[in-house]
Amino acid sequence: MSALARALAHQSRGEHRQAVDALQAQLPSLTDEQDRIEALLALTRSLPRLGRLPEAMRTGTEALHLAELMDDLPRLCDVRAAMAAVYAHMEIGREAMEQALGALELARSLSDLPREGWALARVGTAYLALGDPVQARETTQQAREIAQAQGLVELEFSCLNNQAYFTVEEGEQLTREGDFDRLPMVQAMAQTLAQDAVSLAQRENQPYWQALALSNLVDALLQSGDCARAEPLLLAEMEMAERGGFATIALEARLQNAQLAAARGQTDEALSLAEDLLHDNHPGKARRLERRTLQLLYQACKQRGRSDAALHHLERLLDAERRAMRQGQALQTQVLLIRQEIQSAMTRAAHAQADAQAARQRAQWLEMEQQRLQERLLRTERAALEDWLTRLANRRHAEDALPWLLQRTHTEPLALALLDIDHFKQVNDRFGHAVGDRVLREFADLLRQQLRGADLLARWGGEEFVLALAGQGARQAMNILERLRRTVQSHPWHHLAEGLAVTTSIGFTLQPVGPQPPVWPVVMQRADQALYRAKAGGRNQVASA
Ligand code: GH3
Ligand code: MG
Ligand code: MG
Repeated sequence: MSALARALAHQSRGEHRQAVDALQAQLPSLTDEQDRIEALLALTRSLPRLGRLPEAMRTGTEALHLAELMDDLPRLCDVRAAMAAVYAHMEIGREAMEQALGALELARSLSDLPREGWALARVGTAYLALGDPVQARETTQQAREIAQAQGLVELEFSCLNNQAYFTVEEGEQLTREGDFDRLPMVQAMAQTLAQDAVSLAQRENQPYWQALALSNLVDALLQSGDCARAEPLLLAEMEMAERGGFATIALEARLQNAQLAAARGQTDEALSLAEDLLHDNHPGKARRLERRTLQLLYQACKQRGRSDAALHHLERLLDAERRAMRQGQALQTQVLLIRQEIQSAMTRAAHAQADAQAARQRAQWLEMEQQRLQERLLRTERAALEDWLTRLANRRHAEDALPWLLQRTHTEPLALALLDIDHFKQVNDRFGHAVGDRVLREFADLLRQQLRGADLLARWGGEEFVLALAGQGARQAMNILERLRRTVQSHPWHHLAEGLAVTTSIGFTLQPVGPQPPVWPVVMQRADQALYRAKAGGRNQVASA
């Protein structure tokens, strides 16, 4: 076995420290470009597990440029997917999305389903880094479907485990926002997903996976306040982390232990466990862990009525958040500097070689890069409020707009509709996800053309769209929506794939003129009930509630 193969074997066993040491030792002597890309890619995947993100940035950027120069598209796809993960760890969501979408595009152009699955999984993590756990879970669902169809167990596990994690995050978001209606459903979902991930890890007999999945399951249980079930699982998690030397999981487990003590009312114990964790200067310690620990300290003191101590921890928390922001900005600057540095090194190398072909390729590449940068600039400006696939407003945009639209019902009524494509899962299953995506895009275009005067048209998530029409009475709204439904039904979808037909179910509710409109989730829930009726009534119809 070559030295490189030995290093890669460490990595596949989850021994990231050994893998990194071996790879870094070999890197200077690797002259073959394929080997070099291989080693750089492996480093880009392993370094983040050790918390060494800027180094991962550097190896990833170099691998990216090499793969581009060599025109090695499959490798380029792998590197972009790995880079997406690095940026997501750094909490730089837009860069993460950019890389993940790049990987997705490449995988699809190569008709490479396993790579498409991994790229989709990265799009999922990028969504989380952009603060959207719901879309993160849905996108990951698509990746998981590919994994299952192709028998890709590692991808399947990764998706399940991520979905569990995203759902725990969603639960935390709902708790923070005080949205307690959906919370029990989300918590139950998190538990099921995490439990499924644990079972899969056990079936595959993979200790690292088991420890990871257990960690999520314990988080899910703690979030629901189920200490009795959390405790034995936490012990198992700690033991696995200890035995396998999984340092970051061991740190997580210590925080969970403190959370468990706090949930049981053992405040002093919780406080001392959390303080220990804060004072431990472990290199793999993530910023997120520090923030969560401080939050625990703050809440435990607050509940105990120790207001001075609570205030002190709150100040520390705010300080940590400010620091995290500054670090985030510093990281982004570092990213730029590293890119520049590698670029000029490559230019020098190209000159020294005086290789005509390499120079030509580089010129081409630079031209492309310049164009891409321009496009990216445009895209990042839009990304925050726009859905990348359909170019409609995204959910965040819609959630911002809804309160304003409802305000206007002081003077005019508002029709709020939810549109959901029928049996969309079957479209994916029969024709593939790429066709599914095209359907979503064309569906969005149809809506846009038909609804020029709509006050809001947005992708609510997955294959669900939200539409608001101000100033329309119930009958007018019904007519518009019915026309829309027919347009979708009679659209020549078979252009996209032979035998393809698409219909949509629509639910809407009319918020009449009145002095005190309800908050948007209430109105949305009514639209959702109407949609449910349209589905239950046989689909391809409009219903109101
Ligand atoms: P129903 O008529 O009850 O709505 O059935 P459905 O199959 O449309 O509903 P379900 O919620 O079971 O499935 C929705 C599917 O949409 C599952 C998911 O894989 C797919 N999906 C969500 N987002 C995307 C996307 O961005 N692209 C593609 N291709 N599929 C997506
Ligand atoms: Mg549907
Ligand atoms: Mg749906």
